[in-house]
Amino acid sequence: MFPEIHPSSYLQRMSDGTVKQMNPFTGTEVWTVPGRGHRPLGNHGKSGAPIGAGQHDASCAFCATRLLETPPEKARLVRTGDGWQTLKALPVEQLFETQAEFRRVPNLFEIVSWDYWQKNFGHELTEPLAARKRAYIASEAGRRHVLAVIEARMRLSGVDAAALAAMPVEDKLAAANAFFGGGHELIIGRRHFVEGATHDSELASSGALSSDVHYQYLRFTIDALRDIYLENRYVRYVAVFQNWLAAAGASFDHLHKQLVAIDERGVYNDMEIRLARANPNIYNEVAVNFAGYRNLVFAENDHAIAFAGFGHRFPTLEIYSKGERSQPWNHTAEQLRGISDLVHGCHAAMGSAIPCNEEWHYKPPDADTSMPWRILIKWRISNPAGFEGGTRIYVNTIDPEGLRDKVVPRLYQLRDQEKIAPMRIGRECACVPNCLKYNPAVRREDRDDPEFPPLSANARPDGSA
Ligand SMILES: [Zn+2]
Repeated sequence: MFPEIHPSSYLQRMSDGTVKQMNPFTGTEVWTVPGRGHRPLGNHGKSGAPIGAGQHDASCAFCATRLLETPPEKARLVRTGDGWQTLKALPVEQLFETQAEFRRVPNLFEIVSWDYWQKNFGHELTEPLAARKRAYIASEAGRRHVLAVIEARMRLSGVDAAALAAMPVEDKLAAANAFFGGGHELIIGRRHFVEGATHDSELASSGALSSDVHYQYLRFTIDALRDIYLENRYVRYVAVFQNWLAAAGASFDHLHKQLVAIDERGVYNDMEIRLARANPNIYNEVAVNFAGYRNLVFAENDHAIAFAGFGHRFPTLEIYSKGERSQPWNHTAEQLRGISDLVHGCHAAMGSAIPCNEEWHYKPPDADTSMPWRILIKWRISNPAGFEGGTRIYVNTIDPEGLRDKVVPRLYQLRDQEKIAPMRIGRECACVPNCLKYNPAVRREDRDDPEFPPLSANARPDGSA
């Protein structure tokens, strides 16, 4: 672990305007030099190419008319007359009967493969998942769908046509276990383009959703997250992230989140767990409290708080849950809504043209220390180059105050237009120290205890009058 960093190094502005930052969790050193990064927010004036007839729902393999290009769907979220309903494990024949607002499907190419779990851990399909597979391929159309997708995957992996033709169907169907029990899933939005779009730059990003729909997106993703832990007991962490646009690593310009199960907690989590054991209040002290003292908090509601992050290689918006519980799936509906509203506000403020990674950070289930759930949105607007490689000092084109000043005016506008949920913005934020309640010591300290009425003015130190 790196030596402890003094808070005076987290964020300092030098006389010439250079801003030096150091990340209190990772030790990453970042500089912002003056005179760079003056790009305004919005769509940068790019209008794009006209969208062809029939392309609105057919532009990529995630689009709504191309449902058979993804592996068998695990669940979908549909609107009903008075709300929302999750439909699980639909047979292929029913895929086009309802309109999915969000779909949960296995990723065609897993980062961590089914083979990995099967060969390294002896993991097998649970009986419900095995039954689901049997039922899906029992129908002729379901079997054709599974074989078509597995063959497409094999072709793309370099298996030649002759080998593919010679392979027994049973082997192909066995390989399809990855589609029923694998640990790499996608949550895919319905729209590729916003409603009424005429040009291909008008993409349906997270910020283009309504705040209600964004909440459903978040909640539906958390359902999948919990399922993955329940279905495979060897999973120690599920990474949740959203890559938006090619520069941020997305294969398609079509809104989706990814969930990837791994059998480790990951290097950063292990480092953070050690820090959190040493100082259980670290996320208040070096993140949210510090951001409050330095006027970097830009949005807040009862359940979440957002600030311009420091010590990141890319300009980063950080949204913290104030909730007592560490895990996303243990949050109440109101708490989830609070977090969703701030995350949605951030995406809406930045617009759909900035490539970004949305990363979820939460306590690995087997960690013995409390950690708050938080979501980081990193703007992938620059590429590290030789200078970074040689020095391990990263140049970030927008410093935290500059980032805050880009976001705040947009949030006010969007709130006035009722395009985002009500929230406190900029100087309206309360920024009460230790507002994150994940730390039991802070909760105990702050509780208003009727057993201990305020001391009267003439009370003596021993409490007697
Ligand atoms: Zn699409």
